Amino acid sequence: MPSAKTRPPRPDHGSARTPRRARLMPPAQAEAFIRALATANPAPQTELIYHDPFTLLVAVVLSAQTTDAAVNRCTPALFAAAPTPAAMAALGAEGIGPYIRSIGLWQAKARNVAALSRELVEKHGGAVPADREALEALPGVGRKTANVVLNVAFGQSTMAVDTHIFRLGNRCGLAPGKTPREVEERLVKRCPPELLRDAHHWLILHGRYVCKARAPECWRCVARAFCNYRDKVLAPPA
Ligand code: SF4
Repeated sequence: MPSAKTRPPRPDHGSARTPRRARLMPPAQAEAFIRALATANPAPQTELIYHDPFTLLVAVVLSAQTTDAAVNRCTPALFAAAPTPAAMAALGAEGIGPYIRSIGLWQAKARNVAALSRELVEKHGGAVPADREALEALPGVGRKTANVVLNVAFGQSTMAVDTHIFRLGNRCGLAPGKTPREVEERLVKRCPPELLRDAHHWLILHGRYVCKARAPECWRCVARAFCNYRDKVLAPPA
């Protein structure tokens, strides 16, 4: 076994903002990569707990810079107390806060959830709009959140690029890009249309559990044969 002095340095797999970037896959290879993920998980689902478009919207707003698991620990009690936009607006930021104190940025998120609930009541008759422009006009809702809601709640073929998809798109060469928007546009162009809606889930789950930030677990990657990453990790750490 090599000593610490002689052991080769571990490859730097990049950071969230500047992930390693591989050569762009040709279209047929990109399709094969996505189909490999699809075959391994034919019915992917979001991991967030929700009951309807409103609770999904709130859960996604709460999930910014926090794990889905952390959100799921606090939303059942919050949704039981305020299952509708009117009830959430009545609870207000001060009433929402105690339910979500365990997650990051809870004060700003409580204000946003209260404000977006009020706007849903006042401008949309208490319903979540199935429309990107109207969604992005709500407090605390950006392009990524709108894409998740349009995809999961309304069945639209959108691609929400979070930190996992941004890293994966760059690292494996599926959709390299300098910004989440560049990665999103490339993925939308390259993904077979019939797979686009579920591709959002396949890629997030793959980035979260296999092609991980600190080091990808390529030895158990079902799409390894189609990946262009040069520093694949082909065996678990000893
Ligand atoms: S082979 Fe490795 S780097 Fe490529 S997609 Fe799979 S886990 Fe990620």
